[in-house]
Amino acid sequence: MRSLLFPKRLFPKHLLSSPTRFLSSSTSQLIYSIPNPLDLVPLGSIKQSLRFNIVDSTLREGEQFSSAFFSPEDKIYIAKTLDQIGVEYIEVVTPMASKQSARDCTALAKLGLKAKVVTHTRCHMDDVKAAIACGVDGVNMYMATSAELRKYSHGKDIDFIINSAREVIEYCHKHNVEARFSCEDTFRSDPTDVLRVYQAMERLGVKRVGLADTVGVATPLQVFQVVATVRHNVKCDIEFHVHNDTGCCIANALIAIQAGATHIDTCVLGIGERNGITPLGGFLGRLYTIDKDYIRSKYNLPLIRDLEKFVARKAQIDIPFNNYITGSAAFTHKAGVHSKAVMQNPGSYEVLDPADFGVERNIEIAHRLTGWNAVKVRSQQLNLTISDDGIKEATKYIKNLADSQEVTTEMLDGKLVELAKRETKNRRADA
Ligand SMILES: [Zn+2]
Repeated sequence: MRSLLFPKRLFPKHLLSSPTRFLSSSTSQLIYSIPNPLDLVPLGSIKQSLRFNIVDSTLREGEQFSSAFFSPEDKIYIAKTLDQIGVEYIEVVTPMASKQSARDCTALAKLGLKAKVVTHTRCHMDDVKAAIACGVDGVNMYMATSAELRKYSHGKDIDFIINSAREVIEYCHKHNVEARFSCEDTFRSDPTDVLRVYQAMERLGVKRVGLADTVGVATPLQVFQVVATVRHNVKCDIEFHVHNDTGCCIANALIAIQAGATHIDTCVLGIGERNGITPLGGFLGRLYTIDKDYIRSKYNLPLIRDLEKFVARKAQIDIPFNNYITGSAAFTHKAGVHSKAVMQNPGSYEVLDPADFGVERNIEIAHRLTGWNAVKVRSQQLNLTISDDGIKEATKYIKNLADSQEVTTEMLDGKLVELAKRETKNRRADA
């Protein structure tokens, strides 16, 4: 039985009847259905309902990040750690990029990882031959199909794209190598063109077709409509690659798999061309909230933190304070109401358990928004015995002090120790 995932009012009638030009063309071979929100695979149990693989592209898209540089040793460390995390594919730079890139590609392909090592190449026989010579498991070919990129990139028409892909895909199959074909800039391409290309690629036997929001322009609704339409038209796997120019990458990756995509491209910390693509940690965090047990069993989540630190160093960036899961503020609670609730039940203000990701919760107590419950817990952490009146006195003291200056945990601790000593002395005097 289908679950109703979204109220119909979220999909206004005019959008459902002619949502994008993707649905407005007509040819006899193509199925132009209007994707129905009810066709979304229900959330709830990913294991039962969603089939997806991670294609981590830190060693390809990530190297395109402005300040990233990975030495051969760095690449091996990153690939091995990604493999331990459990990503299913590792995409690496084309051997055509440079001599060292070719040596790195060969070394990575020889690591004997569980993850498949694939390389990203132009749909060109020279590139594909070079890739296969490096011993990779697969070739992720791409070619621009939007009018903008066709004009300024390769200047070829759709028939040329299909014909040139035929030869290289046959070459891949002859060498037992997986072939994927992606339409670069899918979401600004003519829908008739991309469906023609995908169907032709499927006939040529590709393992996957790739949909790429190369410029990060697609909205979640568009992603749903386009992926669902492609899903209706091809049976092979569907890979989805999305840039974060407009901040939608995780939402778009999620709705892509709900609409039928099977492979999602990620990068550690989301680094990549411009401001990057779907972040590995953030995307797994998103899925974790939907099916915690499955994601915990499929991926080694605590390894993400150290890999992010490593990649941040190599990309010469700081991990942003608001980074998913590992940002300094991701599990920091401050307001008295929040702190009190979290100390009693972390789930009250957390949808992710930091322990599952190997990170710690932080409750900030020394500030003017604090509450006496939080101060009490702090006194207990310090093994101090203080009456409730004493705790309330310490709370008032900190709040007043924090109105005029920055206060630290040490200052709060000092006050609590002072109160504990005073109360002990008074008790002795009373005895
Ligand atoms: Zn990209």
